[in-house]
Amino acid sequence: MHPVMKPALRRGWRDRDTVQFGMTPAHAVTLGPVDATTRGFLDLLNGTRGLPLLREEGHRMELPADRVDTLLKRLTRAGLVDDARGGGPAADALRAQDHVLQRLRPDLTSLSLTTAEPGGALARLAARRALRVRVEGAGRVGAVLASVLSGAGIGEVDVRDTGHVEPWDVAPGGLPADAVGERRDAAARAAVRRAAPDRPRRHAHSPGSGAREPGLSLVILTPRDDVSVYAPDPVATEPLMASGTPHLYAGVVEGTGVVGPLVLPGGSGCAGCLHFDRADRDPAWPRLIAQWRSAPARRVGACDLALATAVAGLAAAHALAFLDGRSPSGTGARWEASLPGLDWSARPVRPHPACGCGAAEKSTGKTKKKNGRQAGEKAKGEHVSTNEKPRATMAVQRPSTERRCETGAARPTGTWRAHV
Ligand SMILES: [Zn+2]
Repeated sequence: MHPVMKPALRRGWRDRDTVQFGMTPAHAVTLGPVDATTRGFLDLLNGTRGLPLLREEGHRMELPADRVDTLLKRLTRAGLVDDARGGGPAADALRAQDHVLQRLRPDLTSLSLTTAEPGGALARLAARRALRVRVEGAGRVGAVLASVLSGAGIGEVDVRDTGHVEPWDVAPGGLPADAVGERRDAAARAAVRRAAPDRPRRHAHSPGSGAREPGLSLVILTPRDDVSVYAPDPVATEPLMASGTPHLYAGVVEGTGVVGPLVLPGGSGCAGCLHFDRADRDPAWPRLIAQWRSAPARRVGACDLALATAVAGLAAAHALAFLDGRSPSGTGARWEASLPGLDWSARPVRPHPACGCGAAEKSTGKTKKKNGRQAGEKAKGEHVSTNEKPRATMAVQRPSTERRCETGAARPTGTWRAHV
């Protein structure tokens, strides 16, 4: 372990002996009281020293070894310390590829904010390289989204679509103007390759071969057809539901951008749940949806370029959070924003008892468990006990206790075990 204070968090002194790491409430932490010796010791935590050397230097500063250890333990528990050499073999391999790591450095720094364990950020970044994701739909949203995932270090991003690139598919970060007329899927895959921080792996599974593809961590559905964005057809995702494959919806319909739901089959509301819920609320829904689906598809629908780009970015962020082992707010919810106000709001997609996905049966037990855990967290808080000497006295205050506890309970990267 070579401790380094996480560089992502700006340091500021609230008063003479209270230091605040970070600016935003989501991730800021305050420590205090911190005396001059401890303050000097914090400056030694720059990743160049291992524990023995730190204890030695601490001794020179009249900071006994056990106090050095305690301080490090508390800083680590507060999520403030990274390990400059940690993360395991995959992290070591990524560290050795400096040109790749330089491209991903801002992403690594960002991951350090949501990863408490030292070395965890690089471990998660390295784990992204082994993941397989499929994007279905390569229009203005899908092609940009696929490129973003590739650029963020996801090892294999496959894109599926039909037809050829039309002039109106072109989008910055997605399909380029010189791809007009090319096969849409091939052009999108080329965009994905260009975005990758390193040369991506060749696809082992040729599209259209009909071969069952193992190990997809996530499928993202970004249809170019506006009816499919607004009212995703549950039949289309039956294979994903049957195989327990997590999937995320995103797209633009008329003047509304949609991100979500992220469906964990059998664990959260799915397209079927959404359909049944709408039919409950609006008796005309089945009639309307039948008309929309049977009408001829529009060649060019409304799709504001900026809104499409925002949807692609937000959906990619939800996807990455999930792939990194978190539970983004798009799980069981649809985020929507409409022009021109662009006020993002979430609509829950609740598990519906009439849906065959089984999420409704699970939801009751889950809610009980979640409520119990939150109550425990609030009561617990984080108060670091004081030592006999004032300079060793340190309390940690974190404005976002619940969020941090959520991150602590994260899954391993890219895993999801379906409740089917
Ligand atoms: Zn369902």
